[in-house]
Amino acid sequence: MFDVIIIGGGAAGFYCAIHIAEANPKLKIAILERGKQVLSKVKVSGGGRCNVTHAEFEPSSLVKNYPRGEKELLGPFHIYSTADTVAFFEKRGIRIKTESDGRMFPESNSSQTIIECFLSEIERYGIALLKSSSVVDIGPHKDNKFGEEAVWQVQSVKKVYYAKRIVVATGSNLKIWGLLEKLGHKIVTPVPSLFTFNINDVRISGIPGLSTHAKIEVLPRQMMGEEIKSRFKSRIGGALNLTSEGPVLITHWGLSGPAVLKLSARAARLLNEYNYRFRVRINWMPDYHKEGLLSLFNEIKKIDPKKTIYKTKAIDIPARLWGKLVVASDIAKDLKWADVSRKQLERLSQFITASEFNVEGKSTFKDEFVTAGGVDLKEVNFKTFESKLFPGMYFAGEVLNIDAVTGGFNFQNAWTGAYIAAQAIGKSL
Ligand SMILES: Cc1cc2nc3c(=O)[nH]c(=O)nc-3n(C[C@H](O)[C@H](O)[C@H](O)COP(=O)(O)OP(=O)(O)OC[C@H]3O[C@@H](n4cnc5c(N)ncnc54)[C@H](O)[C@@H]3O)c2cc1C
Repeated sequence: MFDVIIIGGGAAGFYCAIHIAEANPKLKIAILERGKQVLSKVKVSGGGRCNVTHAEFEPSSLVKNYPRGEKELLGPFHIYSTADTVAFFEKRGIRIKTESDGRMFPESNSSQTIIECFLSEIERYGIALLKSSSVVDIGPHKDNKFGEEAVWQVQSVKKVYYAKRIVVATGSNLKIWGLLEKLGHKIVTPVPSLFTFNINDVRISGIPGLSTHAKIEVLPRQMMGEEIKSRFKSRIGGALNLTSEGPVLITHWGLSGPAVLKLSARAARLLNEYNYRFRVRINWMPDYHKEGLLSLFNEIKKIDPKKTIYKTKAIDIPARLWGKLVVASDIAKDLKWADVSRKQLERLSQFITASEFNVEGKSTFKDEFVTAGGVDLKEVNFKTFESKLFPGMYFAGEVLNIDAVTGGFNFQNAWTGAYIAAQAIGKSL
């Protein structure tokens, strides 16, 4: 019998095991992992570099990066946050560096550094690592084999284990969510988050790799806009934030980049209901609105009448994008500012400040993707990460209905939940 069984040998599972052992070294702890390998997502994370966390040290700002979990993580982040993560690794000799966009990586630029740290820690603490042990059933211990002590029984494909406490850290795993549902927990239906938008449109074709700062918003569907809006208001706490601003990357298939990924996370559920067919509006120059830009163009018309519009971009927008939008506005490549019509300038201003595009599907973002959905947060005590329904059962990581935008925040959720659950377990035994 174990004191604690952790189901899932991923980021949250390892972090939790290490911290339980640190809090109470006498405890007998086991990690049950389905696969032959552990920490496989950590391995591929951040393009193999592992973006461990983000340089956002203020809990109230940090939570803003969690479309699901914002309210619930505020308290936990006051207890264990990004600075604690950095301190954990640095204490173990892993230097963490910050990139200009705030993402934090091991200085080695290799996720293997993190994996080796975790593996050596569990060895140091004598934590049992049971691989190829897929868990197929979880339930309260029935046959009372160990008296009052054993509370849980965990059935793997190999054998049944008993434990006083269990931590479910299985990430986005449908089977485990099914088991939890069978036990009585509510599971919020999983849908993808962090994806890119497929768009086929002349205004952005032939210029892949171009990145620019822009504002992008999802337009409500005319037909069922109100209906969907009201349904979503109740689910996401009233705030329908379907806008995002930041770098937008034009790709071979459509649009990607931080602003698009952030929007895909915020609107993950709505876009799933739309079956990933919807419209977006983009302002390629968020400091301008259509009328302001039109007056600027009229000024240029007076100042530079002999120059061609195609070659004289009047604003700080990438030249290749300017060229695309000029052509799409029916302005010939050799047309001079003096000869352009008001209608043409209006169209150009419209395309720059409010281009509308049809999105026809999504693509997976390779560097980081997560699932929105999981154990309903109302059924979890966020002071301990313990189930409110089943004392002695704890959750950490992506198994919960918590997910973040890209940038190291998803791991931070795993570290924070794992740490807090570990403290609670360490104290309770
Ligand atoms: C390609 C990619 C790159 C990413 N990069 C980043 C990044 O750089 N920064 C960031 O913050 N986030 C990143 N993420 C997200 C991040 O990896 C996850 O949020 C994080 O791994 C969640 O940790 P977890 O422990 O909850 O789940 P996981 O890491 O998925 O671990 C769950 C573990 O449970 C095991 N398991 C599942 N079912 C069972 C079962 N029945 N029995 C036993 N074991 C089971 C799984 O095999 C797995 O090992 C990335 C995700 C992907 C897919």
